[in-house]
Amino acid sequence: DQQQQQQQALHSPPHVLIFPLPFQGPVNSMLKLAELLCLSGLHVTFLVTNHIRGRLLRFTNIQYHFSRYPGFHLDSISDGLPEDHPRLGDQFMEMFNAFQAVTKPLFRQMLLLPASAIAPRPPVTFIIADGILSFTIDVAKEIGLPIVCCRTLSPCALWIFFCLPILLQSGEFPFQENELDVLITCVPGMEGVLRRRDLPSFCRSGDPDDPSIRLFMTERHQVPRADGLILNTFEDLEGPLLSQIRTLCPNLYTIGPLHAHLKARLAADTTPVSSFSSSSFRPEDRTCLTWLDEQPPKSVVYVSFGSLVTITEEQLVEFWVGLVNSGKRFLWVIRPDSMAGKEWESQIPTELREEAKKRGYIVGWAPQEEVLGHPSVGAFLTHSGWNSTLESVFEGVPMICWPYFVDQQINSRFVGEVWKLGLDMKDTCDRVIVEKMVNDVMEVRKEEFARSADWMASLARQSVTKGGVSSVNLDRLIEDIRSMSR
Ligand code: UDP
Repeated sequence: DQQQQQQQALHSPPHVLIFPLPFQGPVNSMLKLAELLCLSGLHVTFLVTNHIRGRLLRFTNIQYHFSRYPGFHLDSISDGLPEDHPRLGDQFMEMFNAFQAVTKPLFRQMLLLPASAIAPRPPVTFIIADGILSFTIDVAKEIGLPIVCCRTLSPCALWIFFCLPILLQSGEFPFQENELDVLITCVPGMEGVLRRRDLPSFCRSGDPDDPSIRLFMTERHQVPRADGLILNTFEDLEGPLLSQIRTLCPNLYTIGPLHAHLKARLAADTTPVSSFSSSSFRPEDRTCLTWLDEQPPKSVVYVSFGSLVTITEEQLVEFWVGLVNSGKRFLWVIRPDSMAGKEWESQIPTELREEAKKRGYIVGWAPQEEVLGHPSVGAFLTHSGWNSTLESVFEGVPMICWPYFVDQQINSRFVGEVWKLGLDMKDTCDRVIVEKMVNDVMEVRKEEFARSADWMASLARQSVTKGGVSSVNLDRLIEDIRSMSR
């Protein structure tokens, strides 16, 4: 009997457990990774918090994954927070502490369940977890499972996290509010690129003992303990920085942009698709696509600040007036919870709302990938979240960046200064600047941005087509999963 079981284990495919951070961006990209692995015939358990599981079942078409991939399985675990906790981005530390206290022991228990308890599924043979959830590395090491970390934020920000101890030693951090424009000199590979204002938002607290700084500072030591690191990027975008990251994490799998990679592999797959996949935690308003169909090519500014940003009444009004005064058409995602508990509509005077209706369209949540791929969209006013940035890069849409927190301050600097794919509006929120930047990107410097955006989009496309670097790296990841799973 035991022999039979061993034989079965030998012939059953590897079983990868994927554990993303419980936010929209990481869930989006790691669900794409899950699907890419399923397409290669692997068993995948997508492990999310109970809260995220509820949202996936309620709003998304997760059924698509179940029906298309017999090896796909959704599982969930407690995040240790009360039901009614808002779980917004700025409560990250609270969430993280609950994870350590409650989720870690549950995660361990789950992996130690006897094979009979999870049958007919094979036992987990490989873990892919978000690198900031470093307790997963402790557990994997303890029970002897291979683990590869995945970081879904930008590699340029990850490199800064890795270099936080160097910044501290060199005295370039902490700094005063009046030193924001001083250049950072001590970070290898970023000389002359970053100012202090471009460092992750939490660096501005001025306190090196700030809990979020301490948390991100540990990454330099934690992530390299894993058997490898997956990054959602492509070599042509960030080559020099990736060489720096390789000095600490030599086994790097750059397999992005993940959303595009999945599209490319699905296009090459012959299985008929009976439905579509979506991982939005909110109902998508698809009427905006019909509205876009009626607009001239490249005439619309798409505005969205992602899933976590909250804005003030003043900021809402500045953006509103700036957009209206620009005279351009716009499609704006204003989430119902954009203003932390306040209802946004009443903040806008009636005459301004009427004015906006002439050229603007507002939705609560959009099918963003489709919107950015729509021919009517000419620019993206974004908070520079990493997923949004990659989605825009892939579609060749120039950006106007209004970064909010964590990696967004660095991403927007790279968009503006390194890749020349748009403008960085960091640290201002003023109607005149909004209007000017919209006009610069949509008109004055239109050709220049279109050229660089088209060029980068073509490199992104190449990377995920067969033989491209991201595609080769994904094949290597799959081979490594197979060989390390034995
Ligand atoms: N998104 C979407 N519809 C929207 C706004 C955002 O589908 O109306 C998606 C977007 O395509 C991206 C994700 O939500 O994949 C946001 O992730 P990102 O890393 O850009 O920002 P975050 O929400 O984590 O701040």
